[in-house]
Amino acid sequence: MTQIAERLARVRTRIRTAEARFGRPEGSVSLLAVSKTKPVAAIREALAAGQADFGENYLQDARDKQQALDPGEARWHFIGPLQSNKTKPVAAHFDWVHSVEREKIAKRLSEQRPEHLPPLNICLQVNVSGEATKSGLQPEAVPELAARIAGLPGVRLRGLMCIPAPAADFDAQRVPFRQLHELRESLVQQGLDLDTLSMGMSADLEAAVAEGSTLVRVGTDIFGPRQDQPSASREGDHE
Ligand SMILES: *Cc1c(COP(=O)(O)O)cnc(C)c1O
Repeated sequence: MTQIAERLARVRTRIRTAEARFGRPEGSVSLLAVSKTKPVAAIREALAAGQADFGENYLQDARDKQQALDPGEARWHFIGPLQSNKTKPVAAHFDWVHSVEREKIAKRLSEQRPEHLPPLNICLQVNVSGEATKSGLQPEAVPELAARIAGLPGVRLRGLMCIPAPAADFDAQRVPFRQLHELRESLVQQGLDLDTLSMGMSADLEAAVAEGSTLVRVGTDIFGPRQDQPSASREGDHE
């Protein structure tokens, strides 16, 4: 086995163990392999080991890798901050976007989703307590935005995503994940059909599974530590 295959197997075991420990049905938590900044060779190793879903934060970095692989070989999830000047290629070349936090972005993704493709799966990124960044919607703003986005034809609102700051211990890790779970429950009670909680990373996936995560996003524990992000000049984000 390659090192990536071994690490993938270990992460899958962690997920299955957490499912069993916290009373979650086996297979109810899926794994997104976060390959940002990693070379296409690393993705090929993961594909060979049976991994199908990959998460990327930087558009040009992701496009280079997508073009090096066969179409349909992998499923692509955009998980980084998304500016409005990048929505068109994201709508055309990804299956999911986890980081929607504005109506304008959702509308553009819907309008720009090519007609031959199924609606783009999206999650709203929520700034729960202890969030690592300033990104994400305030929880109070989620119900209204979710209701408006739910009617857009080119996107399908699947659920919520968060990136909490590192917490001191397991119980503290669980708090923001529980908050996101409760928020989804309240939206479901409003009549929205949401099946996804995108939460949990290398350091806190067990806490996320305990609180109902349906998809964990793991980078470091599969692909190893990351160097810097791609240079700003290549990615050049402008509104
Ligand atoms: C980088 C990143 C991850 C993966 O984090 P690790 O700690 O390397 O597992 C998950 N989600 C998002 C949004 C990220 O940007």
